Amino acid sequence: MSVFSVGKVSITRIEETYLPVYRPGDIFPEYDDAIAAEHAHWMAPNHYDAGKGLIKLSVHSWLVQTGAKTILIDCCCGNNKPRPTRPFWNMLNTPYLDRLAAAGARPQDIDYVMCTHLHHDHVGWNTQLRDGRWAPTFPNARYVISEPDFEYYRKLDADPDKAEPVEFGTFRECVLPIVEGGRADLVTGPHRLDEHLDIIPTPGHSAGHVVFRLESGGERALFIGDVFHHLLQVYYPHWNFPKNSDAEKARQSRRMVLELAASTGALVLPGHVGAPFAGYIEATEKGFRPRFG
Ligand SMILES: [Zn+2]
Repeated sequence: MSVFSVGKVSITRIEETYLPVYRPGDIFPEYDDAIAAEHAHWMAPNHYDAGKGLIKLSVHSWLVQTGAKTILIDCCCGNNKPRPTRPFWNMLNTPYLDRLAAAGARPQDIDYVMCTHLHHDHVGWNTQLRDGRWAPTFPNARYVISEPDFEYYRKLDADPDKAEPVEFGTFRECVLPIVEGGRADLVTGPHRLDEHLDIIPTPGHSAGHVVFRLESGGERALFIGDVFHHLLQVYYPHWNFPKNSDAEKARQSRRMVLELAASTGALVLPGHVGAPFAGYIEATEKGFRPRFG
């Protein structure tokens, strides 16, 4: 189990999956043999499966224990959800909640669930199937949700001519039950949650993607969701992961977060980067480089 300390706050990674998934060239069209050779020394085995020729991505949550509050950031995919067009997500059955309990948090202990955005792999455990209905997994939690993301998907969902369920059905299964049940705090723009946490808008990967910034005891952390998916994007910040609502805004947000991380020395905790899963960003003459482990 990966545990990090920021001031008086303890942060634990809760794994759902950690697998080789995509050929790098399929995800990043700019990837070529010269870049592969330049970065081979750090890519395998944590960020690239050399045997399979696939980049490795993690799907995990961050459990944040401040002493006063227990917070879960991003909720992975969840169990029992049919996603036939996404084999890595289809009908998962992982011991995620057991891992959460092993880290010291039962579902009823979570005070806040905070989603960086409303894609399938960040809201899955928001709900569980109970008596044939999707009900909140965390019975005592307020769910902090970006209003621009919610509005983006609400409009798509309201379109009577939509070709398929919005975000593979995730919006109706994992987001609407929370909002309609009065459990969501919809937030917009820069927003302070409490003395330790605030929200920074980072649109692009999704319309309302946000980063959560933590400060404790003079130390800082940034929970950056999908601002970047792989450490290659620290070296090449203009590389976008596929599926962005706005590719240019995604690049601007990535540069802004890299600059913020480098200038403040914040611990950066991405949503999908492989082991050791969190680290620091250093400015270089040419741009940035990661210091993860
Ligand atoms: Zn994601």
